[in-house]
Amino acid sequence: MSALPQSRPEFPALFRDQLTTCQVNLGYTCNQACHHCHVNAGPNRTEQMSGETVDAVLDFIDQHKIATLDLTGGAPELNPHFRRLVTAARRRGLRVIDRCNLTILEEPGQDNLAAFLAENEVVVVASLPCYDRPNVEKQRGKGVYDLSISGLKQLNALGYGRVGGRLELNLVYNPVGPSLPPSQIELENDYRRELAERHGISFNHLLTICNMPIARFRHALERDGRLDAYMDTLVHAHRDENLAAVMCRSLVSVDWEGYLYDCDFNQMLGMPLSGRRTHITELSDANVDGRAIAVDNHCFGCTAGQGSSCGGALA
Ligand code: SF4
Ligand code: SF4
Repeated sequence: MSALPQSRPEFPALFRDQLTTCQVNLGYTCNQACHHCHVNAGPNRTEQMSGETVDAVLDFIDQHKIATLDLTGGAPELNPHFRRLVTAARRRGLRVIDRCNLTILEEPGQDNLAAFLAENEVVVVASLPCYDRPNVEKQRGKGVYDLSISGLKQLNALGYGRVGGRLELNLVYNPVGPSLPPSQIELENDYRRELAERHGISFNHLLTICNMPIARFRHALERDGRLDAYMDTLVHAHRDENLAAVMCRSLVSVDWEGYLYDCDFNQMLGMPLSGRRTHITELSDANVDGRAIAVDNHCFGCTAGQGSSCGGALA
């Protein structure tokens, strides 16, 4: 990632609090190839976490006080060890999150995926950048809207998304272009009304996430000559109070080969945990709490405006 002009401030130093979440990228294979994808995932990517590395992740969970396993990709469900990892983590009492693109629920061979997620009480966090077809398809490709709605209906039919229910379904919004997300609360109300009226769909929460200026989205901004303006937007909207809640304070991110990072974004930028390429098997006995986090100018994407993290707005 190229350095920003000197006139822009440096991102403040950050240190990890207590580690509670292990976010695992199971590989870059995906049935979609979205324009904003920060991992450049797609159908032609073949990188997948091996069974041995999945075992190492489980050992890591056993050796640390991990309460949440957060599974991402690509489409994490396409990894052949996905279901084994989910059931093993649930047996250990962990909260398991599946970052699901919804269309995977409609893919051939994935007919019983929704039922598997429900049976294991997996929290589904699903991307839906708008309740309107054109905005969804502009960002995620033609045909994605109808498949996403079908996927949501499958999940609702199994009991996902009911207020006070045991099956949690959260939707993720990210802006279609280089702008900050609107108010999470107001947008959640809009989504709730529109999805209910148009499709009879319900969900628990809407999480608003800022597009990070990295990977495919960054390349698109560079191509259109809009990268500088977007970085200015992020830097000017930075709020110090968001620093306390960014996800890297309590999370480590594991790549498909088992190497560790402070977050999924740093993983994509090749910025390793503690500045040294460390495999998950090497960190087994070490304490990551209190260590410095590798930050750079992309981090302003987490602290701009109401803030943004894998769990939505921070403020
Ligand atoms: S954004 Fe998600 S669904 Fe789209 S290509 Fe990337 S991993 Fe796949
Ligand atoms: S990009 Fe990663 S390291 Fe930077 S603030 Fe966000 S979560 Fe933390």
